Amino acid sequence: MLYCIEKKNYKIKFFDQTGATESASVITSIEPNKTKGLIAKVFDSSGAVKSGIGIQIKVKVKEKSGGHEHHDRDRPNGNLTGPEGSGEKISGTTNTDGLQFSFTSPAISGDYLLEATCTTGTTCTTQGPKTLWAGIKDLDSLFSQSSDYVLIGSTSIHPDNHYMTLDARKKVMLLAQMYRNEFPGDPVLRLNDASLERGGLFDIKADQDAPWVPPHNEHRRGTVIDVRANKAPGTIPGKNKKRFKELVRFLGVKFRHESRGTTNEHFHIRLMGAAE
Ligand SMILES: [Zn+2]
Ligand SMILES: [Zn+2]
Repeated sequence: MLYCIEKKNYKIKFFDQTGATESASVITSIEPNKTKGLIAKVFDSSGAVKSGIGIQIKVKVKEKSGGHEHHDRDRPNGNLTGPEGSGEKISGTTNTDGLQFSFTSPAISGDYLLEATCTTGTTCTTQGPKTLWAGIKDLDSLFSQSSDYVLIGSTSIHPDNHYMTLDARKKVMLLAQMYRNEFPGDPVLRLNDASLERGGLFDIKADQDAPWVPPHNEHRRGTVIDVRANKAPGTIPGKNKKRFKELVRFLGVKFRHESRGTTNEHFHIRLMGAAE
């Protein structure tokens, strides 16, 4: 006699709160420190949505994502909130619309990966997009080759440190051009940190045992850049600083003259006026 035992083999899929997904790998995108609603649905082998299924969902950040070429301990995984609490792991039971929950991104941009399992004796596998893309959209790097400026400050842990919005790039290129025209015999501007490839928290002290925390304030949305002005060769010489500030003001741009008289002296330039 042949017994046919039904082995339930369900699939769990993730969607944004409208029931859509962004691409084959990305569920949805989110800005750092923001929260987004999500849905997990359980399907049986015929594709029907199953309610009454207990599921557990976990979130984990992808190593070295978001422009951080370091994976120090304690990189935040973000926070899930479900019907029964919140944390890196939540659980709940699906209804006819699935299980609604939300994700809050850390201040750090990166890929946050979801994984789900069934808790009610059913075998479930996660299928479809699992990535939450956290960051600022549409940033791009300044060109590394220019006769108007030199890019500096790239490190092995943050190799791409000149990502900016299109408008901010245009403005800093204009500033560099104007400065060069004004002082053709002096070194061109040394442009230091702007933002990482997806913006977000820029933990410049990660190599000094302080990963995932400020103090690089602002520099998070591709609208701020530092221009070196210390006494090192090639930076803005003292005689040009007054005129440099006038050029910056002429462009309608706010700035702070920081760490004066130290090896870290620089102009922190808010290209779009916003302090972010
Ligand atoms: Zn980092
Ligand atoms: Zn700065």
